[in-house]
Amino acid sequence: MHVAMIGTGYVGLVSGACFSEFGTDVICVDKDASKIERLEQGIMPIYEPGLDLLVENNVKAGRLHFTTDLKKGVKDADVVFIAVGTPTRRGDGHADLSYVYAAAEEIAEAMDGFTVIVTKSTVPVGTGREVERIIRAKRPDAEFAVVSNPEFLREGSAIGDFMRPDRVVIGTSNERARAVMSDLYRPLYLIETPIVFTTRETSEMIKYAANTFLAAKITFINEIADLCEKVGADVHDVARGIGLDGRIGKKFLHPGPGYGGSCFPKDTLALVRTAQEHNSPLRIIETVVSVNDRRKKAMADRIIAACGGSVEGKTIGILGLAFKPNTDDMRDSPSLDVVPALLAAGATVRAYDPEAMEEAAKLLDGLTFCESAFETIEGADAMVILTEWNEFRGLNLKRVKAALKSPVVVDLRNVYEPREMKENGFEYSCIGRGAIG
Ligand code: NAD
Repeated sequence: MHVAMIGTGYVGLVSGACFSEFGTDVICVDKDASKIERLEQGIMPIYEPGLDLLVENNVKAGRLHFTTDLKKGVKDADVVFIAVGTPTRRGDGHADLSYVYAAAEEIAEAMDGFTVIVTKSTVPVGTGREVERIIRAKRPDAEFAVVSNPEFLREGSAIGDFMRPDRVVIGTSNERARAVMSDLYRPLYLIETPIVFTTRETSEMIKYAANTFLAAKITFINEIADLCEKVGADVHDVARGIGLDGRIGKKFLHPGPGYGGSCFPKDTLALVRTAQEHNSPLRIIETVVSVNDRRKKAMADRIIAACGGSVEGKTIGILGLAFKPNTDDMRDSPSLDVVPALLAAGATVRAYDPEAMEEAAKLLDGLTFCESAFETIEGADAMVILTEWNEFRGLNLKRVKAALKSPVVVDLRNVYEPREMKENGFEYSCIGRGAIG
């Protein structure tokens, strides 16, 4: 079986490398020549734990290839995945499908023999139908099927997620395509991965329903956390107390500065737009979107309040810029709201992130990037934890206290124990743990 992966980003590169690990011949295509050049030199264009070794091994084994030449990649492929970006379209919140449709046009010109074209990108309901129409218009006689197969991997644990997914969703009514997809994913269901076969529209809907549900769950616990602060309750115990209920589940109940990243913000917006267009509004998700936007903006106010009401002329040391640990992805990260707001309020901002500073430098200016956590907080008026990288979770507190000008710590990821911080002489604020503060 030959697979072509169009788009070699977080999803395409990981999926391509994982399929090749299972013995499939994979060619990853990207129109970004610098990405392909780096990959050919063994340099990863993104940070994802374990990816460099996985790519290296499969390139060496002759199963994983890279090219900028889509035609070359698609010509011999039995399965062609579209894994290009679907960012928010400027102005209206819809998913921008221009990359998907452009890829479909190019695939149509290049494919040869029965080809299964799979949308792995997150795309609104009806996109598969449109991809099929585009290809059919160009190649009326071609034998092909367009399948939906959304991806659920998480950045930071993408390889494990891909290889041991909770489920695989495949949307198609074409029997031949179903057989090809079953074959491709067979190595996964050896380890009992449930495969949900359904229609293309349903499959497209499942991805959005999953992401918007998770965004709602995060937003729910964030608001509960805020209320906990007001009433003197501890949100960690609340999360545990409710999460042990099997109907609720333990995951995604960790409060923080609001969700970010390349998926939840754009996917919530896109589903809200789809729902409005179909006159079937999703009021809950509309509210989730606006609550989360406000929350990210309000985080700077928390920091300013912790600094006594003003950061004018003060230095703030920020630990973590990526939207979550173990990734260099800065898309819609809370730091993109927090840093400019602190700068606008007159603060000097120093920051450190183990992997995301190169990306951050493209999106943020006016701050100083540092080489380590301790360099960042040396002489600062406050330390702010924005991303819970492992290396920020067990900092030597005596050293932290000695480094800071004043012992103010704002922990937006609840990494530390309020009681311990207090005992160590910090003015410590976190999220939703008012009872212990
Ligand atoms: P990305 O921006 O990292 O990568 C997309 C890549 O596609 C880029 O390298 C771009 O150069 C390339 N590209 C665009 N048009 C092309 C074309 N015509 N030919 C060849 N290459 C082309 O995006 P991503 O984060 O990997 O996301 C891809 C899709 O997967 C999105 O729809 C996203 O919503 C979805 N998704 C992402 C994640 C995630 O964690 N990042 C998880 C699940 C699903």
